[in-house]
Amino acid sequence: MSDEKPKHTTNDAGIAVASDEHSLTIGPDGPIMLHDHYLIEQMAQFNRERIPERQPHAKGGGGFGHFEVTHDISAYTKAAVFQPGTKTDVLMRFSTVAGERGSPDTWRDPRGFSIKFYTSEGNYDMVGNNTPVFFVRDPMKFQHFIRSQKRRADTNLRDHDMQWDFWSLSPESAHQVTWLMGDRGIPKSWRHMNGYSSHTYMWVNAQGEKFWVKYHFKTDQGVECLTQEEADKLAGQDADYHTRDLYEALKQGNHPSWTLHMQIMPFKDAETYRFNPFDLTKVWPHGDYPLIPVGKLTLDRNPTDYHTEIEQAAFEPSNLVPGIGVSPDKMLLGRVFSYADAHRARLGVNYKQIPVNRPKVPVHSYSKDGAMRMDNVTDPVYAPNSKGGPAADPSRNPPVDVWSASGDMVRKAYTLHAEDDDFGQAGTMVREVLDDAERERLVSNVVGHLKGGVEEPVLSRALEYWRNIDQNIGDRIANGVKGS
Ligand code: NDP
Repeated sequence: MSDEKPKHTTNDAGIAVASDEHSLTIGPDGPIMLHDHYLIEQMAQFNRERIPERQPHAKGGGGFGHFEVTHDISAYTKAAVFQPGTKTDVLMRFSTVAGERGSPDTWRDPRGFSIKFYTSEGNYDMVGNNTPVFFVRDPMKFQHFIRSQKRRADTNLRDHDMQWDFWSLSPESAHQVTWLMGDRGIPKSWRHMNGYSSHTYMWVNAQGEKFWVKYHFKTDQGVECLTQEEADKLAGQDADYHTRDLYEALKQGNHPSWTLHMQIMPFKDAETYRFNPFDLTKVWPHGDYPLIPVGKLTLDRNPTDYHTEIEQAAFEPSNLVPGIGVSPDKMLLGRVFSYADAHRARLGVNYKQIPVNRPKVPVHSYSKDGAMRMDNVTDPVYAPNSKGGPAADPSRNPPVDVWSASGDMVRKAYTLHAEDDDFGQAGTMVREVLDDAERERLVSNVVGHLKGGVEEPVLSRALEYWRNIDQNIGDRIANGVKGS
């Protein structure tokens, strides 16, 4: 506690208020006066405190820190943020996907792993997850997938039958569902999980050479997870367990960090690689494209105002800086539209002027007006002009991060590469990555989930789905479900 006298309360116009406790009445027992503007302001502000929560990823927390490049990877990208020795301020937000703002942190779910790099070339955002893959590969299915994980129309309840109905009719989900039902489906804390770009991006070096890349942020705290039982208990005892963990760690000076590694694929390899490298349901096995170290991401500061700095934080895969581009990953291309659109809907068209979303470089755009505009617009308000307004300088961001495409307009799945199939990599994980104890927990988690309200015909389809991933695991799950 400070010995200093507290500041005097004012209303939002800066005018000193007469009381923090008493409204203006006619005599101590009389009615309240409508012209008690401070009381009205308090009530009206309060009624408007909540803004729409994010559709997916509503529950989350985050902090500030920096990213430092420790290895020379300039052969692969010219992006200033990844040049040797560069240190860049960052904002990070972690989240669950399906739950609402008050939902328990320890529900089984993928976790968002979003980073805003305040680079010298403008803001660069990586809107990642703690998983290297995703449930669907076409943005047409994304909305349906999220609805299947949220609440039914009639009961307003989440529904495992609805979840398995969607998953078992969408076999491309098998890899991510296997991941989700395993140990990593419930991290011990946000500090104890990895982050992945999941998507494939393009990097371009100073000579204009192009590469396909995937980002892997490996936790320096070690991967640690909660069992289903531990998570269920925590969900009741402390719904904000992960939020509290990060806040307390940062407050105590216990700064979590992640080491960034890249998988880098030469541009030409994409055509003939054994998996379609742009399919978000697949990884690139480490043996094919080994992890190349890049640098360290460290968080060291809590937000002071959760609402303005975390709830209003707007991450978008469309924030790409020179040297980093998109790939033909259809989910990524969909998200490039969808995230900025979500921010406009949730925060308003001028969301990039909210301090936490502002770049740390000057903005010279032609955007103007709109609700809650903060910055003054100056003439000329059009381009091209002969009045000294901003003019694009192509040398600063030449269009080299491109690929060519040709063909008829179609609605079709990706072209299959030699080893593409929906169940293969999920089966590899079950058979070659998990040990006996992890497989046992996987079976137990799936059995528990299926017994939580999954009915025919969805149940039979779900068991078939697991037999397609791995016959043995599928049989064990079927036995477990029958043993009810
Ligand atoms: P590796 O043996 O080189 O890598 C397996 C990776 O699996 C590990 O490095 C680790 O990823 C991750 N892993 C370990 N335990 C678990 C778990 N309980 N749940 C989820 N992931 C776990 O093999 P490959 O690269 O050849 O991949 C084999 C399979 O491993 C893939 O089909 C995929 O299912 C899975 N996997 C692969 C990743 C990749 O990017 N190649 C990433 C994650 C999983 P990490 O090192 O990132 O902690």
